[in-house]
Amino acid sequence: MQINVSQQLKEITGSTRQYEIDEIIKSGDSSYGVQGKIKLVRTGQGMLVKGILHTQVEVTCSRCLSFFSCPLTLNIEEEYLLTTDIVSGASLPLPEEPGCFTIDERFVLDLTEAIHQYVMLAIPMKPLCHQNCAGICPTCGHDLNQGPCGCLPQRVNPRWSELNNLTLTNDA
Ligand SMILES: [Zn+2]
Ligand SMILES: [Zn+2]
Repeated sequence: MQINVSQQLKEITGSTRQYEIDEIIKSGDSSYGVQGKIKLVRTGQGMLVKGILHTQVEVTCSRCLSFFSCPLTLNIEEEYLLTTDIVSGASLPLPEEPGCFTIDERFVLDLTEAIHQYVMLAIPMKPLCHQNCAGICPTCGHDLNQGPCGCLPQRVNPRWSELNNLTLTNDA
């Protein structure tokens, strides 16, 4: 996902352009579609990218282990720094902070890596296919979302059952 910003870089600081994003991002052997609007704002050192993008990625439910499509909202805000002076064409010293994004010497701004990082951060630590996912039976591994299995209910330790009551009260 590349945007040539050579024209906008010649404009004054604060000049803004909007871009409509609807693209497929490839990462490794998976890919996902990304849609939304972003704004590019000329800054003193480069370009600020701001916007909200939407995507859906395939993840594994942490309870029932099934694959499902998880919708994600990416609130992008990143400054891309110039590596080449737009007027003289001279190389600029690379910024010292590690991992910052740059605009290459052809004045192309590549959003792919930033979007990929935002996706990684947006994926929940324990994804659930739906809020009330019943999970799998710890005894036989049956997916309890598809109905009960033949196993006997697990004996609940009385000490823990007290905690269960507490959780229920809090939920109510
Ligand atoms: Zn599930
Ligand atoms: Zn079972």
